[in-house]
Amino acid sequence: MTQDGMQPHRHEGINWYTWNIFEPWKDRLSVVLTTRSEGVSPFPKNSLNLGRRIEDSEANIRENRQRISSALGLDGYSWIAANQVHGTGIRRATALMSESPGACDAIFLNSTELIAAILLADCLPLILYDPVRHEGMVCHAGWRGTISGMAQAAVGRMVDVGSRREDLIAAVGPGIGPCCYEVGEEVAEIFRKKFGADDGIITDRTDAGGAVIDLEAANLAVFRQSGIPSEHLGRGGFCTACRSAEFFSHRKERGLTGRHAAMMALV
Ligand SMILES: [Zn+2]
Repeated sequence: MTQDGMQPHRHEGINWYTWNIFEPWKDRLSVVLTTRSEGVSPFPKNSLNLGRRIEDSEANIRENRQRISSALGLDGYSWIAANQVHGTGIRRATALMSESPGACDAIFLNSTELIAAILLADCLPLILYDPVRHEGMVCHAGWRGTISGMAQAAVGRMVDVGSRREDLIAAVGPGIGPCCYEVGEEVAEIFRKKFGADDGIITDRTDAGGAVIDLEAANLAVFRQSGIPSEHLGRGGFCTACRSAEFFSHRKERGLTGRHAAMMALV
């Protein structure tokens, strides 16, 4: 059974969520989803924007990253944030990187004193952790990453470096939910070809063509097919567009918005 849900946390005025599925390892693994409060950026004000946007300043982003690091007790940890390109590339975070591993959509983490971060506004975080080897990965998946196999590539990399599939713990989402995610006929057809009639992933619209897509269900299906036991899977279980007061939403805010983050640190 997939474990639903997340827990809200608040410290030093900053709000964030943790996934219930990672709760047993909370003393050695810090893995969180940030929210928009409480920072120094616009969108529209006092936002905790963590991504580089042309509407925001470098000083704001640095201050926001410092605030969340401090609230999480990760002072002194260096931020490593991907330049995401809607692909399936994976880079390993190292202390030699100056903030970015370059163009990729997933960061593999196996050392301390680093924060691996994926920046989001409706796209889904995919998180993997191997408690036996104490290493993990944060990934970014919108519809393109879901179709091109980000989840499968992430499991493949963990296995390549020595993980056993049955040891992996994974979380999917939250991102934009089926309540808010209608796609046109072209994208709907791509999903039908990849996922067929798998339960609950694609709901055809009867009127204008196109479909409603459940990206959490789609990526959970890929993790299951990749050999992760169902009881090791967690999901966000809510929609970031519906909760745009708490999370940045590209679709709801028509592109003019910031970025929250899925962050992982090994402690
Ligand atoms: Zn929604």
